[in-house]
Order: sequence, then structure tokens, then C-alpha cells
Amino acid sequence: CGIIGYTGSRLVSDILLGGLARLEYRGYDSAGVALEVGTGTDCALDVVREVGKVASLAKKLEQHDASSTCGIGHTRWATHGRPTVENAHPHVSCDGRIAIVHNGIIENFAELREELSGRGHTFRSETDTEVFAHLVEEGYAATHDLMAAVRDACAHVVGAYGLAAVCADEPDVIAVARKDSPIVVGMGQDGAYLASDIVALIDATRDVVVLEDGQFAKLTPKGIEYTDAEGAVIAPAVTHVDWDV
Ligand code: GLU
Repeated sequence: CGIIGYTGSRLVSDILLGGLARLEYRGYDSAGVALEVGTGTDCALDVVREVGKVASLAKKLEQHDASSTCGIGHTRWATHGRPTVENAHPHVSCDGRIAIVHNGIIENFAELREELSGRGHTFRSETDTEVFAHLVEEGYAATHDLMAAVRDACAHVVGAYGLAAVCADEPDVIAVARKDSPIVVGMGQDGAYLASDIVALIDATRDVVVLEDGQFAKLTPKGIEYTDAEGAVIAPAVTHVDWDV
């Protein structure tokens, strides 16, 4: 239902919790974040999820390492699978090195789940979303390039998605995709931001790119690179936001 993400020099937990609070008005049943903790080859993902309010997630996060400067967050409105911690986003790959958040519905998830299970993937949730985590895991094993892996996963998926992915083997990078579910990205003074709704970004930046269907964005602390479905670099239009919330 709601997506937020940040990579830069600021501590990410407060940015994610603040963004998720801004997105609460849309309604949701659970919430979660994936934080990159540690640097270089010591980088790992800390995934924290909770049923109910963002405030409960915030309370749970108080017990976790708060040093992260790159992460993604989600408020879920369940379409496939009950509102439980296991079904809350982010969803992770089998090896725990990749985490994704997703808005929308994957229509061919049952076929994909069967194929992926046949290739040895273990599913831990009842969601349609989880196939994305396993598809990106396969793509990453083949390419060692998170953005390429996300583009490849999207080519196999039928349905609607706003998607953000992080990988502990590619620290400080967030890969973003969009089809029929809104995603907005932008550079702030201290890093790169993404959200499913402009209201969650305007404290950080007022110059945003509203992704179009089939456009991808690779966020790093220093900048954002946009590509099309084939991986060719594109230059989407920047929108200046001059209204307030
Ligand atoms: N279809 C996904 C799920 O049920 C995403 C729902 C959403 O957009 O929040 O987990």
C-alpha cells in the first residue's frame, strides 16, 4: 500500500518511520522495514515487521541497531494472505541477502511460485509479492547486478507493481521499478529518496521524478540513474512540487 526508501548520509530509521506515518492515511494492516547494517562485505539486512500500527513497528525498532543509512519500508494492505508478520513486507530471498517491498498485485504468482519452488526456493509467506524476492535472487545470482536482476524479474511478472529492492552484496543501492502503481523518486541534500506518494517526500525534496510504467531507477547516495526495460539510460522529466501538505 505505501512504500518509502532512502540511501544517503542520514540515519535511515527515522526517515522510514516518518515517511510511513505520512502514508498512514491510505490505510494498512501491517508495516515493516529492511535496514542495511554494517559496511562493505560485513553488510547484512535487518528486517523488522509488525502487524498493526507504525507506532508498534517504531517501538520494536528501538531494540535494533540504528546506525543504518540505507533502507526501505512498507505499509501493507493485504490482497493475498492474511495480515500476519510472515506476510508483512519486506520479503526476503532464501539467503536473506535481498529484501523487497511491493505495492500492487502479481497476477501470475501461482505459476511463478510453482516454478521457483521446483528450482529449490522455499516460500515463507502466503503473499503474491514473495515471488519477486525469489526472482530477484535468481537474477542476482546470474548477473551480480541488482538493477539488472530487478529488470529481469519484472519481465517475468504479470500484474501491477511499485517495487523497491535492496541487496546486502550491493550496499547503499536501492533498485526501483514501476508498473500501474505509483512511485516517485528524488534527490535531497543528503541522499536519494523514493516513495509511493509525493507527500512522503516533500520534506526532503521538491524536485521529483514521477516514474512512468516500465521505467526503472537506481538510487545511490550520490545520484539516481534511470533506465528503460532494456537497461538503456533515459532522462525522465522532473516535476517541481510547489504545494504544501
Ligand atoms: N499484494 C501484496 C500483498 O498482499 C501487496 C499489497 C499492498 O499493496 O500493500 O502483500
